[in-house]
This record gives sequence, C-alpha cells and structure tokens, in this order.
Amino acid sequence: MESGMTAAEQRRILIVDDNPAIHDDFRKILAPPKSNDELDALESSLFGDSRPKPSAETYVLESAYQGQEALEMVRRSIEESNRYALAFVDMRMPPGWDGMETIEKIWQVDPDIQIVLCTAYSDYSWDEINRRFGSADRLLILKKPYDTIEVCQLASALSKKWHLARHAHLKLNQLKGMVAEQTRQLQKTNEELLLEVRRHAEAENRYRLAETGANDGLWDWDLVEGSVYFSPRWKDMLGYAEDQIGSSPDEWFNRVHPEDIAALKTACDEHFSGASEQLRGECRLLHQDGQYRWMLYRGVAIKDEQGRVVRAAGSFTDITERKMAEEQLRFEALHDTLTGLANRVKLSDRIGDAICRLKRDPNRRFAVMFLDLDRFKVINDSLGHLIGDKFLVEIARRLSGFIRAGDELVQTSRDDVARLGGDEFVLVLDNVVRDTDVLHVAQRLHDAVAEPVVIDGHTLHSAVSIGIAIAHQGYNNVTEILRDADTALYQAKAAGRSCTRIFDPDMHQKAMAQWRTESELRAAIDNQELRVFYQPVVTSTGALVSIEALVRWQHPNRGLLDPDQFLPVAEESDLIVRIGRWVALEACRQVRIWQTKFPRHKNLPVSVNTSSKQFALPGFIDEISQILARAGLAPQSLRLEITETVAMRDAHATVQTLLRLRAMGVLIDVDDFGTGYSSLSYLHRMPINALKIDRSFVGSIFEDKVSAHIVQAITLLAHSLQVDVVAEGVETIPLFSAVRTMGCDYFQGYCIARPMSAADMEIYLGDVKAADPAEIRRNSLPGESSSAA
Ligand code: C2E
Ligand code: MG
Ligand code: MG
Repeated sequence: MESGMTAAEQRRILIVDDNPAIHDDFRKILAPPKSNDELDALESSLFGDSRPKPSAETYVLESAYQGQEALEMVRRSIEESNRYALAFVDMRMPPGWDGMETIEKIWQVDPDIQIVLCTAYSDYSWDEINRRFGSADRLLILKKPYDTIEVCQLASALSKKWHLARHAHLKLNQLKGMVAEQTRQLQKTNEELLLEVRRHAEAENRYRLAETGANDGLWDWDLVEGSVYFSPRWKDMLGYAEDQIGSSPDEWFNRVHPEDIAALKTACDEHFSGASEQLRGECRLLHQDGQYRWMLYRGVAIKDEQGRVVRAAGSFTDITERKMAEEQLRFEALHDTLTGLANRVKLSDRIGDAICRLKRDPNRRFAVMFLDLDRFKVINDSLGHLIGDKFLVEIARRLSGFIRAGDELVQTSRDDVARLGGDEFVLVLDNVVRDTDVLHVAQRLHDAVAEPVVIDGHTLHSAVSIGIAIAHQGYNNVTEILRDADTALYQAKAAGRSCTRIFDPDMHQKAMAQWRTESELRAAIDNQELRVFYQPVVTSTGALVSIEALVRWQHPNRGLLDPDQFLPVAEESDLIVRIGRWVALEACRQVRIWQTKFPRHKNLPVSVNTSSKQFALPGFIDEISQILARAGLAPQSLRLEITETVAMRDAHATVQTLLRLRAMGVLIDVDDFGTGYSSLSYLHRMPINALKIDRSFVGSIFEDKVSAHIVQAITLLAHSLQVDVVAEGVETIPLFSAVRTMGCDYFQGYCIARPMSAADMEIYLGDVKAADPAEIRRNSLPGESSSAA
C-alpha cells in the first residue's frame, strides 16, 4: 500500500509549536537528510539497531508556530485535497491558543486528522482531556522531553492509521457509490419493467377487448407443436361452442370447401416461403348447419433464426353476405331478371367461347337457335303484361328443363338457354354432328312449346318459330352467327306458324338485298320514284266498270319494278302504310281528274289495294275520308280491296270497320278470294260489293277441274250473297268466254288490258265506253240505289 503511494500522497505531518528549535528536532527525527550514511552509522553505534529505520517511511513536515496558523494550514490542506495525516501540537504556545484550543478548532475543520499533544508539564490531567474531547482514538499524548523512538512510532502508527482509515473511508465511499449506482440501475430497470408490464397488460387487455368486440375470429397456429388456438369467435362463426372445437389444424383445413383447398394451400406456401407479405385469401368453410360460409383469412408467419416458420397467426372474417351480394350482382349482370335465363351478355360470352373452340377444332361444330313465340303479342295485348310475364316464365322453364333433361344428339348446358328480351329466346347446341340432329331438337322444342300453358285459369296455346345457324369456321364473331340465326328465324316466321329454317348463305344475300331495298324504298317515296299504273275492269260487253290502281317503282338503276319486287320488303316495315297512303291519294286525285275530263266516266270508280297493316290502323277510316276530301272524290268512286286473309283474320272487328266504311259510301271488294279460309257466317255479315276470284284459279280452269269447280262455286256463293264476281287474270278470249259462261260479272286481265301508266290510261279512257249503270247489277247492297256507281 505504502509502496503504491505517490509523492502527492506522501504523509503530511504538521508540527505546531511556538519554539522553532522543536521543529528542527522533528525534522531531524522524521525527515533526516538523504544519503547521510555516516550519520546513520554513528546513530546506530550510539543507539544500536533497535530504532526503526526512518527511511522506510517518508513524511512531509510542515510547520506552524501558532494555533491560528495551524488552523489556517489545515483549512488550506482540505481545500487543496492534500490533507495532513497527523499534527504534533504543543500544549503551550503563547501568545495564541494553547494546544487544547488549537486541537478543538482543527478538529472542527478536519475531524480525521490524528493529533499528538506534546506537553512538558501536567497542564491537564488525562481525565480532563478525555472529558474535553471525549474518548477519541485520534489523540495521543507525548510527554516532553521527546523520546525519538516514541516520535517515530507515533508518526508511523498514527499516519498509517490515518491512511488506513482514509483508505477504508474512500473504499467505503466507493462502495457506497457503487451500491447507490446499482440501486439506481435496479430502480431504473424496475421502473422499466413495471412500465413494460403495464404496457403488456394494456396490450393484452386491448387484445382481449378486440377479440371479444371484433367480428373476426382469431387463430394462432403453433407449427412446432402442430396446434392451433382458435378464438371463441372463430368457433362461433362456424356455429360451434367453445369446447366443441379442438386445437388441431384439421379443425380448420378439413372444413375448407374442396374447391378452395388448393388455393388456401398455395397461399400458405407462398407466404411461408416469403413470396407474399401476408397470408390472405378467401375460402368457404363448412358451418355446423351444413352450409358453407365465405371467409376472408388473413395472417402473418413468424420464423426462427433458421428461417423456419414456427408460428402463424391471423383472423377470419365472415364475408358470406358480401359474396352473396356480389354473386347476385354478377348473376343479374349476366341473366334475364324475369326468367333467370342467361342474357345477351352471357350468351355472347358463351357463343364467343364456342367460336374460339371451333377455330381450334373444326369438328366441334355448334348451332345457335333463335326462337320466337308466334302468338305472344296476342297473349300480352289481350290478357295483360302480368299473364304475359308468367307465360314467358313458363316457356323459359320448359326450355331450360328441356336442356337439363339432356339430349343424346347434342350437348347443352345450363347457360345455353338465353332470353334476349320480349319473346325471343336463344339456344346454343354444342357438338353438332349432323344438321338433321339439330332439326330433331327443333322439332322437340316445337312440341314442348305447343303443350298448352294454363295461367290464372286461362289456357294459352302458343307456337314457336325457330331459326338456326350452324357454326362453321367462317364465323369470326358472335354478331355474325346471331345475325344469321335471326335471318333464318325471319324466314321461318314468314313461312307460317311453327316453322324451322336453317340459315344458308343465300338467305344472307337475300336478307342483305332486302335490307338494301328497304333503305332505297324509304328514299324512293321522298324522291317521287313511285308510280301508279292502272288496269281496267270491264263488263262482258267490254264496258269499263272500274280501274285498279297498281303501284310501280321507277328505280333509278333497276328500271320499272313490279310490286312483288319491293312490296314484301315494305310489308315488313311500316313503309307499306306510307306507300298505301300515297297510292290512294294519287289514284283518287287522278281518277277525279279523269272523271272531269271524260264526262262519260264521271262516276268511274278506282280500286285501291289495302294492306293488312294499313287496315289495322286505328285511324284508317279517318284517313280514307281525308284522302277523299283532299282529292275531291265521292266516296262511291272508291273501291277498297282487302284480301280474304285480312278480312278473316279478325273477322268480328273487320265487320265493324267495313260497316263504317260502307256507311261513308265507300265500296268494298274482297281480293284474292279463294286463297284463304273464309267463314261463311262472317262473309254474309260483311257489307261486300264484289269478290275477286284469284287469278290462280281462273288461269287454270282448263287444266284443273277443281279450279273450275271453285270458280263456279264462288260465283254461286257470291250471287247468293247478292255480291258481284270479278274474274282476275283473264289472259285469253277462250278464258274470258268460259268464266263469263260460269256467271262471272266482271273481268280483269291481259286479254282486256295490261296495267298501264296514267298517260296510257288516259288514251284508253278516251276510247273505252263506260258501263251502263243498268249493266252494273250488284255493286250496291240490297236496298241501296244502284245509281251510286
Ligand atoms: P292484286 O290486287 O290481285 O292485283 C292484280 C294483279 O294481277 C296485278 O299485278 C296485275 O298486274 C295482275 N294481273 C292482271 N291481269 C293479269 C293477267 O291476265 N295475268 C297475270 N298473270 N296477271 C295479271 P301487280 O300489279 O303485279 O300487283 C300484284 C299485287 O300487288 C296486287 O295483287 C296487289 O295485291 C299488290 N299491289 C299492287 N299495288 C298495290 C298497292 O298500291 N297497294 C297495295 N297494298 N298492294 C298493291
Ligand atoms: Mg287488287
Ligand atoms: Mg287480286
């Protein structure tokens, strides 16, 4: 310890004595000059070697000659942290403080300093000293005269004691410091721990709260143990109580819908391998009630240092309602709301796929069937939309039932039946091998629809027209094949009820031509390309009874077109109504001019053909009277021709219309008689002036006995009904004679005159004689004046 002592730590001793000689004595004893070997030798010869070698310890001696001075030095030593270990204090130090007072003062400043009180006389008794300072162990008394050894021992022992005490004190302080520091650290750690515990508790609380409050079921999968914690809510979401579900992963995975298991496993693999940041996906889980519920699963995996997944945790959210709503929306987007069948969008997808397949594999032919109910409009109009809707639903049911029943000829699936709106349905038939197979299917569809439907007490009969397009590799898109099926349907409908037509390319050409004609015809009316030709109707003596107005189209490129080249197209649209109006007005005006121009023809009537569409118009009668007014023609000069088919279609309504026309004074002729099915009971109630026997019968009376009989029968019938008979298509003189013999009243045909332009007709009128009113026997109803004509 001593050996490690530095110079600054050399023990400092303070000598306090008023006598300077004493100071020298102390110095001699405690701090003798170095390397004075002679003196040492002398000393040892004098005192022997019993004296401890003072050189073993080194002291720094300082001197104070008065108590006050000593006190000052002690104070400074403390300030400079260079304390005295020991002070030798003289008892008597006039004129200042004596030793006792000095010691008292010094100890007040430095209580650790060791003191040796040096006294010659017994100034104070030991008891007195003890009383004054207490039984302190820091004061010893040295009696004068000094014994050198005693001084050395005192200096050595007391300074060592001071040093030890001080060292112990320092150590203690150091230890105290360490303890305090450690206590502080512990406290800090403790506080942190407490904080952490509180945070944990809060987190735990929050978690519990979240777990109970949240709608989500939680899971925590220990992959090392192979067990899963499922939260009560997780179990509840699947209809189970807390204790009904264990902790095996199978509780989860065995409930996953077979179709979703692969995706779930992939999602797990991807996340566990680090390919995805989160485990996330949707799957169906089997509920206790046997139904599947849609779940959104989310989770994260925790890995150990080796990167192995040791744990994964996450949640389940029940998204069944959202899924169902989505599904509903998706369904509605692709299906017809009324019948639940596929809609146009879905159908297009379906056909688009089939076209793609066909492109790859030419053997995978398919067919598209367009169905249109023949009498739906009648049902809807007469019984109302509610029944109409129910009827459509029933037809849809039959069609999809038909599909579901399967077919050995062609393949179909659920979405192969679509409704395109109204009464239009479409079927897709897959894997068509022979075209005839498709026709067989069509026949069975006809049968299925033909079964009467009973709705709210009404027994409804319907039929369906079917147009078929059989796909070939030439089709590039859905529109093309639908267009062709539609064209075939159009043909089927034109052919009559319950017909089926398969599309062929000619049909398309024809349809295109028709479409062109229609658009050109629309323009033709405005461009005044229509003409009216006239053909005379004469008596057996050749006198003119009336003229029939017949439309022609002066086409800019195709020349003069006959009605059969454009009227069928016009019939399909409302163009026929516009054409009819125009011809009627034109003919009435023209005849009015001729009546004035040729006085003998002043009552000449004009026959105007009336289409079924025109006749069905609610304002038809008003229209006729307006035309007559505008042309300035008497109603008796207009003969309206309606075909037998039109007259009989809605015979009851026809009777009403005809009666009103007749009341106006207009004459009515039934055209093309013999080609339709007339009801005699209605025929005799209709105010008819003449029946025109269709030229197909008239023209074949020589070759066909039946035709001859028909002409004969019609003539007899007409006459019995007090109605005139006109023979159409009288092409030759022998024919003329024959039908005249059969009793026909009037004659129209090429052997009399061909239809001619207005200019030609005018020349004709100049030559021909007018029929004598007496010759016109039955152009008025019984009771009416025959002078009307
Ligand atoms: P329809 O009313 O039966 O007209 C008579 C048709 O017979 C006319 O044909 C006429 O040219 C034709 N014809 C007359 N005599 C003979 C003959 O000896 N031999 C032959 N083979 N034919 C003869 P067109 O002018 O071609 O008219 C055909 C049909 O067109 C008419 O049949 C009529 O139903 C319709 N039609 C003509 N013009 C109009 C019109 O302005 N409006 C309406 N709605 N239909 C019209
Ligand atoms: Mg006619
Ligand atoms: Mg006719």
